[in-house]
Amino acid sequence: MTTTEKLIASVTTDCLCENEDGTPSDECFDCYEWQKDWVFELLGMWQVANKIDEDDPILIETDRLGWRNASAFKWTTMLDLHSALSLDGGDFRIEWYLENDTLTARRWSHDEPTGTGLFTFTHHRGCDKCGVPVKADVYNEELGFCVECSNDYFEEN
Ligand SMILES: [Zn+2]
Ligand SMILES: [Zn+2]
Repeated sequence: MTTTEKLIASVTTDCLCENEDGTPSDECFDCYEWQKDWVFELLGMWQVANKIDEDDPILIETDRLGWRNASAFKWTTMLDLHSALSLDGGDFRIEWYLENDTLTARRWSHDEPTGTGLFTFTHHRGCDKCGVPVKADVYNEELGFCVECSNDYFEEN
């Protein structure tokens, strides 16, 4: 399966609940939870397209984050990916994009009024020998090893 058109799933801590006539509702019916359903679906499509196992390491990187516009990175797995960009105790909006099987995202918040840089997500696998996370395409090329273990292996043999 390949996703060729750009799919977008967004979540916001703002309430999106509406009355039957389309006006904003005074009461929130947990709309953050149903907003997340589409995010889960999109992340699931990315997972299937890239054959990612639940506990494979995923590297999140961005070049612009927070009020300092700092670059940042963070490791996660499929199990926590959906909440990896959420902020504790602050309002935010996150847009997830899936295009050509590549996942990216952007976040807006109080400290990021014009949005963060684009988040990228790189699928890794643990080296079969030393366990170090290796980019999935390198892992496949090196037959399950990181480059170092692969070099050691073929020198010994
Ligand atoms: Zn709501
Ligand atoms: Zn290794």
